[in-house]
Amino acid sequence: MSQPLVGMDLADLREALGPHQPAYRARQIYQALYHGQAADLVRISTLPVHLRQELAEHHSLGLPTVDRLFESTDGTRRYLLRLADARTVETVLMPEAARHTICISSQVGCPVDCKFCMTALMGLERNLTAGEIVAQVLLVTRENQLLHEAGRLNVVIMGQGEPLLNLPNVVKATRILLDPAGFALSPRRITLSTAGIIPKIAELGREPVRPKLAISLNASTEEQRQELMPITQKYHLKDLLAACKAYPLRPWEKLTFEYVLLHGVNDTDSDARRVVKLLANLNAKVNLIALNPGPGIPYATPLPERVASFQNIVRRGLPCFVRKPRGLDIYAACGQLKSNSQPALEPSLPPHSLPSPPPQTPANPSDSNIE
Ligand code: SAH
Repeated sequence: MSQPLVGMDLADLREALGPHQPAYRARQIYQALYHGQAADLVRISTLPVHLRQELAEHHSLGLPTVDRLFESTDGTRRYLLRLADARTVETVLMPEAARHTICISSQVGCPVDCKFCMTALMGLERNLTAGEIVAQVLLVTRENQLLHEAGRLNVVIMGQGEPLLNLPNVVKATRILLDPAGFALSPRRITLSTAGIIPKIAELGREPVRPKLAISLNASTEEQRQELMPITQKYHLKDLLAACKAYPLRPWEKLTFEYVLLHGVNDTDSDARRVVKLLANLNAKVNLIALNPGPGIPYATPLPERVASFQNIVRRGLPCFVRKPRGLDIYAACGQLKSNSQPALEPSLPPHSLPSPPPQTPANPSDSNIE
């Protein structure tokens, strides 16, 4: 079987080429893969023809294939990608005038059993390799002619999976994406979201090259959080906040806390006041996400007035935004990624479950993109 090259760093490439090739050949291939974004090994024009052929004999780029592509009325594109072992995973492109956001997966399915998330219904199938993580970005940029737009791209590791449970591969992929000689993404433009795997937060903080950190808070009390996110029976809120306090933020960085608002469950004014108290000592901002509904999810979306009231209270204590839902009609929004091959939401949704647009007035800023 041919060995995939995407996902290899310089050291891996040197090893793959063997001792008879000069070191600069590995650099040329590295640049062609991630900077030049080669579409075909035999066309890497910086390499001699015999080496290209030799490479192509033993290796492949290793990009997944597009199994299906779904397009939302808001311009969002959901890619159902087929991996080498025939499993599928999802990547979402959210285009915007000023910049585009690519939401990538870190695992096939997810082992964290959050009660409001459709990915949880898949369970965990397997970790993605570093190559499969990087390849999602390469493929979507290539498919959408965004090849030389690394400066205008955001990458969020918020698709299928819990990235901190696949940390080595996520870190390796991040290094390639951020390397100026690699994909050359700006370090401020890649964010990872975690359900709060406490020991791994400290481990991530020790990495010299790492994404920004977002944490799914989703509840204002320990009890509520344990009910909505059973994994937090092991990773307690108090310890999570201590890990956040100890996290070594870079000078330009803030922690992001995400909070999924569930109608009548965690969306009261008292919840909002408790959130402010919990986060009072942290350099943080809050992103509210009104529930994106789906089959099998036993919660409803709060009304826009409730979201606005919650936001207004949190904003008294710290910056607070409402995340715009993107791609709701194609199962592409947060919490909807379930390797779904259906084109659109089914029409029969329970009451209150239709998503409401976030408040748009200047008094209620909404996040211009996902991060
Ligand atoms: N495993 C990571 C990435 C999850 S997806 C994590 O837990 O953070 C990113 C965000 O979407 C998380 O904050 C998650 O809480 C949120 N989310 C999950 N299901 C959702 C849903 N149905 N509606 C809105 N947001 C949801």
